[in-house]
Amino acid sequence: MDISPQAKRVLVTGGAGFLGSHLVDRLVKQGHRVSVVDNLLTGNLDNIRGHVESGRIRFHDHDVIDPFNLAVDEIYNLACAASPPLYQADPIHTAKTSALGALNVLALAERHNARVFQASTSEVYGDPQVHPQPEGYWGNVNPVGIRSCYDEGKRFAETLFMDHWRHRGLDARIVRIFNTYGPRMSPSDGRVVSNFIVQALQGDSITIYGDGSQTRSFCYVDDLIDGFLAFMNAPRGTTGPFNMGNPAEFTVRELAELVIDLTGSSSRIVYRALPSDDPRQRKPDISEVHDALGWQPKVDLREGLSRTVAWFDAVLRSEGRSSERLPQAMAA
Ligand code: NAD
Ligand code: UDP
Repeated sequence: MDISPQAKRVLVTGGAGFLGSHLVDRLVKQGHRVSVVDNLLTGNLDNIRGHVESGRIRFHDHDVIDPFNLAVDEIYNLACAASPPLYQADPIHTAKTSALGALNVLALAERHNARVFQASTSEVYGDPQVHPQPEGYWGNVNPVGIRSCYDEGKRFAETLFMDHWRHRGLDARIVRIFNTYGPRMSPSDGRVVSNFIVQALQGDSITIYGDGSQTRSFCYVDDLIDGFLAFMNAPRGTTGPFNMGNPAEFTVRELAELVIDLTGSSSRIVYRALPSDDPRQRKPDISEVHDALGWQPKVDLREGLSRTVAWFDAVLRSEGRSSERLPQAMAA
């Protein structure tokens, strides 16, 4: 792949993770000079190994809580564990990643006059009492609960981004990502889509937390990355925050049943305790981002899950861990 004449120097923090590595693929395809800063806390170098070994991207093993310098034109700040069990494993580090990571990334953007993008989250709405959630809703967040390190960290990062835009004229942008899934989620990161697919493919019990009536809205990764790129290419002053996600809402129980259907698994559903502060409902209002960028997701849950199941099946088979037989159509 050649460097395009319009090539920009683009930094992706967290670029070895699930979303970051898909973003890196697309930026490389567009011909940009891409660098990744990642401490591999929850990411995997294999996600970007091809680009690193071919010399198409530069990888820096670095923790964003410590300052760093690279010459850049654009920054996507994605570095942060996203799975609840993983971001709760070292909550102080998670809070530092959001707060100090944002400050370090913003300082870098100021130094090089770069456009800078923050991967925020639907978690800024906490356990929402307004449904679906528009950007104008301020949320219902427990500031002292087990999710606070992430929720409050991301909320503080949004504050820092907006104040750098308002007071220093920095070209800052914020996207609030709703549950996104797809190939390259870590099989062991504990999020619902990866857990259910891995459990189904291995013939293990599918673990629903609570009674499974809580809802989420699941976005396929390719749709989300389309949104990221459209947002970053919008004119200066397009700061957001914008919700990005697929507004089709499902209960966790419906998700479990769909995964069983798609995999043809013999797994049975078991019920486990609901973690504290687990949001009851979540669904993005995407009218603002649709009006501003014309963006909306295209891949429905059945189609996206089919692609994701096929990817997990290949990974687990290569590790000798898949015990179920996929339906003929999907195994092809
Ligand atoms: P992920 O865990 O796969 O990727 C996060 C990446 O950041 C990993 O490669 C990890 O090693 C790296 N990282 C973590 N802490 C770091 C630190 N202190 N310094 C350097 N690197 C660090 O998760 P993901 O799903 O790809 O999420 C990417 C971003 O999107 C995160 O900021 C997350 O909060 C946000 N987000 C994701 C979702 C989703 O559904 N996937 C939803 C809301 C927000
Ligand atoms: N969940 C579940 N079983 C699992 C993992 C998660 O029932 O094995 C539930 C979890 O309690 C939450 C929803 O699925 O209600 C989504 O969880 P996830 O960790 O993917 O993300 P969240 O949206 O909670 O950050």
